[in-house]
Amino acid sequence: MAIIKSDAILLKKTELRETSFLIDFYTLESGKIRGVLKGVRTPQPQFGCSFELFVRDRVVFYEKKDRDIFIVSQCDLEDFYAGMRKDIDSIACAAYIAELLDVCCPFGQRNENIFDLTDSAFRNLAVKRPKDVARIFEIRLMKEAGFLPSLADCVHCSSKNIPDNAKINIKGGGIVCEDCGNRLPGNIFVKKETLGFMKKVAGDDGIGIWDITVPAGVDAELSGIMKNFMNFHLDRRFKTSEFMIQAGLDI
Ligand SMILES: [Zn+2]
Repeated sequence: MAIIKSDAILLKKTELRETSFLIDFYTLESGKIRGVLKGVRTPQPQFGCSFELFVRDRVVFYEKKDRDIFIVSQCDLEDFYAGMRKDIDSIACAAYIAELLDVCCPFGQRNENIFDLTDSAFRNLAVKRPKDVARIFEIRLMKEAGFLPSLADCVHCSSKNIPDNAKINIKGGGIVCEDCGNRLPGNIFVKKETLGFMKKVAGDDGIGIWDITVPAGVDAELSGIMKNFMNFHLDRRFKTSEFMIQAGLDI
């Protein structure tokens, strides 16, 4: 029985019984895991406020024999991301990020970059516009998870001749040249500025991503492209973003 200690970000929480929760964490050591947390909401709760949604904890967990669900034996708060909780748009963005991780990341696949990306996104929600954080996060997560549209040569014929106002072929998984764009069905337009921004965020070494400015007019188009792409390739609709549109939240 391996005992694992790891930093972990709490993504999802379901009540099991009066004093226990089923929790999804994104951990630094083991990627996304699901664990049972017992002993909460007793007169003297064992875990303080360390099991709130979207906090960073130091957790200790171990595998139960023949089961995919871990037992969380210790859970200490490391960062409450208090700055992020200042307004509803930032919290909605955190919920959207948690849903993206839920959809794009299989359980048990370690990826330090995704952990760092999530941690830095939550910290940046204290200081940046939630919609900018969401656009940068989408591109980087899709890159790490292997779903990012191919952005260089034509994905269909490998031509390097890509027009300024190019098209992304959703089914083909990337940018197409003018000829292929005219022949193939299922394309969406992408403006030069949007494509430039996607390339900049995807090509960054990861350290400077939060300093990249989201150009004006790019937001709505990029949001549409990414959702279209994720809906097709992951076969899943995003509840959080649909809720946010209905509630008029700005991400
Ligand atoms: Zn082509």
